[in-house]
Amino acid sequence: MKFPILANDTIVAPATPSGGAIAVVRIEGPRAIEIADAFFTADKGTPLAEMKGYTLSHGVVGDRDRRIDDVVVALFRSPASYTGGDMVEISCHGSAYIVSEIVRLAIDNGARSATPGEFTKRAFLAGKIDLSQAEAVADVIAADSKASLSLADTQLRGGYSASLASLRGELLRLAALLELELDFSEEDVEFANRGELIELLERIDGEMAHLTHSFATGNAIKKGVGVAIVGKPNVGKSTLLNRILGEDRAMVSELAGTTRDTVEECITIDGVLFRLIDTAGLHNTDDRLENMGIERTLKALQSAQVVVELFDSPSSEDIVEIGNEQRVIRVMNKCDRGERDLPEGWIGISAKYGDGVEHLLQTIRGSVDTEAVMSGETVVSNSRHYAALCEGREALSRAREGLEMSLSSELVSMDVRVVLDSIGTITGEVTSSDILAEIFSKFCIGK
Ligand code: GDP
Repeated sequence: MKFPILANDTIVAPATPSGGAIAVVRIEGPRAIEIADAFFTADKGTPLAEMKGYTLSHGVVGDRDRRIDDVVVALFRSPASYTGGDMVEISCHGSAYIVSEIVRLAIDNGARSATPGEFTKRAFLAGKIDLSQAEAVADVIAADSKASLSLADTQLRGGYSASLASLRGELLRLAALLELELDFSEEDVEFANRGELIELLERIDGEMAHLTHSFATGNAIKKGVGVAIVGKPNVGKSTLLNRILGEDRAMVSELAGTTRDTVEECITIDGVLFRLIDTAGLHNTDDRLENMGIERTLKALQSAQVVVELFDSPSSEDIVEIGNEQRVIRVMNKCDRGERDLPEGWIGISAKYGDGVEHLLQTIRGSVDTEAVMSGETVVSNSRHYAALCEGREALSRAREGLEMSLSSELVSMDVRVVLDSIGTITGEVTSSDILAEIFSKFCIGK
C-alpha cells in the first residue's frame, strides 16, 4: 500500500471465544491508551500513557469504586502493533460477565464495538499486511491440520505475495515498454522486440498456470480432501467407515440400501484432513427416498478428489463413472472369508476385522501430494485468488494473441493492464470497498 491509512476512531472487542480460563479484550485506535487508562489502575500506579510499547502492566480494572477483575495489560504503540495503531490488550479471567464489563467500560469511555475482522482490516489499510496475508489470518485461525496450517502460514508470512509481486513486476515492465511505444506512435517505433515479448508472456503464463493448477490441491487441503466410499449395497461401506473412525457412526445392516443419505466424517492422516463420505449404495430402485440418496452420492462423487471403490466379489465392471481428475482406489472387502485373487493394484481388506485397513489409509494419504505445501511453496487455496488468476490468464492469452497478430501496442497494453489488475486484486493493490467488506465480514469479531 502506498498510503497507509490509520483509523481515526477507537474500537473494542473480545479477542478470545468464551469458555476459556483467560480472555483477552482488545482496544485499538488513537484513543486506545487513554480509554484503557480511564478504567485500569496499575499496581505500581504508573498510567499506561507513561509506559513504553511492548510492556506488560498488572493491575485492576473497575468502575469508580467497583473492582471488576485483576488483569494484565499489554501495550503496543503505533506503528509497532498488529494494526499499526495504538493498541491495548487486556487479559482478564475468562468469565463472559467480566469480558462484557470490560467492553462496556471501553465503550462508556469512548470506544465503539469492532466489526468482524476490523483489527485485521486496519492492519491491511495501514499497510502492515497485504490482502492475501489478511485472508491468511482467517485461514490460520481455521486451520485444522498440519497441512492446512502450513498452507495458511506460507501465505501469512508473505511467501505467496512475494511470488505475485515478482509476476507483477515483470508485467509492469512489459506494460511500460508497450506504453512507451504509444508516446511515439507517430514515429512507428517498436521499443520491445515482439518475439521477446511473446516469450516473456509465455513465461508469465507458465507461472500463473502453475499457481492456478495448485488450487486443486490447495483448496482440498484447506477444506479437507474429499474421499467418497462407493460400492454396491452391502459390500461393507458403512462398516469400513466405522472401522476407520472407530465408532458406530454410519448405520450397518444386512438389508441392502440402509445408508439412505451420505454420511461425512473427518479424519486426519499424517497431517492432512480427509472428509470421508459414505455414500448410499448405487443401484436401480423405485424407492423415492433411496433415489434421493443416490443422487447425493453422485454429487459427492463429483466433488471428491479420491474415490474408494469397494467390492465384495470379483467384478470387472466399474460401479460409477469416475472423473479424469479423480484418484481411484479399488478395494476388495470381506477378505476374512477366504483368500482372494486380487486384480493388480487392488487392496484387500476386511472392514469387519480391520485387516488391510491401515494399508488402505496410507494409500489414501499417498494420493495427495503435499510436498509443495509442506515445504512452504506457493500454493493457491483461496477461491477468490483462483478466480483472479483465471481472469488474468484469459487476458494474458488475449495479449499474446494480440502480439502474434501484430495488433497495436495500445490494445495489447490494455490486456496487460487487465492482467495486472487481476493480480493486484489478490494482494489488494487494486481493490474496492465491496471486496473488502465481503472478505472481512467472514472474520470473527476481535480479529
Ligand atoms: P454397505 O451397504 O455397503 O454400507 O454395507 P454394510 O457396511 O452395511 O455391511 C453389509 C454387511 O456386510 C453387514 O452384515 C456387515 O457386517 C458385513 N460386512 C462388512 N464388512 C465385512 C467384512 O470385512 N467381512 C465380513 N465377513 N462381513 C462384512
